[in-house]
Amino acid sequence: MARRVAVVGALGRMGEAVRAAVDLHPDLELHAALEGAGHPGLGTELAAGVVVRDDPKAVLQGCDVAIDFSVPAATLANLRVAAEAGVAYVTGTTGFDAAGKALIAAQAERIPVVHAPNFSVSVNVLIWLVREAARKLGPEYDAELFEIHHSQKRDAPSGTALRLAEAVAEGRGGNSPLRLSREGEVGARREGEIGVAALRGGDNAGEHTVYFVGGGERIELVHRSHTRDHFARGAVRAAGWLTGKPAGLYPIEEILGLL
Ligand code: NAD
Repeated sequence: MARRVAVVGALGRMGEAVRAAVDLHPDLELHAALEGAGHPGLGTELAAGVVVRDDPKAVLQGCDVAIDFSVPAATLANLRVAAEAGVAYVTGTTGFDAAGKALIAAQAERIPVVHAPNFSVSVNVLIWLVREAARKLGPEYDAELFEIHHSQKRDAPSGTALRLAEAVAEGRGGNSPLRLSREGEVGARREGEIGVAALRGGDNAGEHTVYFVGGGERIELVHRSHTRDHFARGAVRAAGWLTGKPAGLYPIEEILGLL
C-alpha cells in the first residue's frame, strides 16, 4: 500500500516541487496539505480529496510521513503535532538557532526525523568533497564561502553555506570561526576564519562556492541549482526511506548512501 504523505508549506516554492516529486514516487501518495492560517490558497483542492487546510492535527492524522519546507516556527509547532500523532517527519526548513535544533532533536526521540539544510544528492557530495579538501589542504589554505539565492529567501547565510563551513571545520579537525561580514577597517584576515558572503536577487534557486585560497593559486568548488526539483527529489526519497524506521534523528548522508 502506498505511504500517505502530508506536505507542510504545500503552496510554497518547495511545497510545489515536493508535490510534483511525490507524484513521481512509486510508493508514496499525496494524502494531505498544510498551510499557514490566513493563506489565500486555503481550501484549494490539489488532488482528488486533498484540500489545503490549516489545522495541523487534522492534516497529519492518518498520514505516514510529513514533508515540510516552511518557516522555523511552523516546523517546530507541526513537528510537535506529528510526534503526538506518530507521523515520521522530513524537514528541510532552514534558519534555526541552537535552541530550535535542540527542540527538533528532542522530538526525534519520539518519531523518526530527518532535518537537512540541503536534500540534494549533489550538494551532499559537495559537502563531502569540501570536508576532504579541507582535510588534505590543511589550515594554510584560507577557506571562504559565497552563496546567492532568490530575493525572497528569509535567512542568511543559507543553511547550506553554514553546513559547508561546518564541513571545512570538520576536515580541519578544529574550530574555525565564521566571519559573516566584512566592512570598513577590518584589518588582516584572522587565521583559520571562514568568511561567508550572501547575495540575494531574482529567482536564483541557490548557488554555493567554496574557495580554498593559497599563495598564488586557489581551488573553487561550485554547485549551482537550476531548479528546486533535485531538493524535492531528495526529500521525497528521504520520506520513503524514513517511514517505518524507529524514532531517531537520521543524517541525510545515511539515506543518500554517502556515509
Ligand atoms: P516559501 O516561502 O516559498 O514557502 C514556505 C511555505 O510555508 C509558504 O507557502 C508559507 O505560507 C508556508 N507556511 C508558513 N507558515 C506555515 C504554517 N504554520 N504551517 C504550514 N505552512 C506554513 O519558501 P521556500 O522557498 O519553499 O523555502 C522554505 C524553506 O525551505 C526555507 O527555510 C528554505 O531555506 C528551505 N529550503 C531548503 C532546501 C533543502 O534542500 N533543505 C531547499 C530549498 C529551500
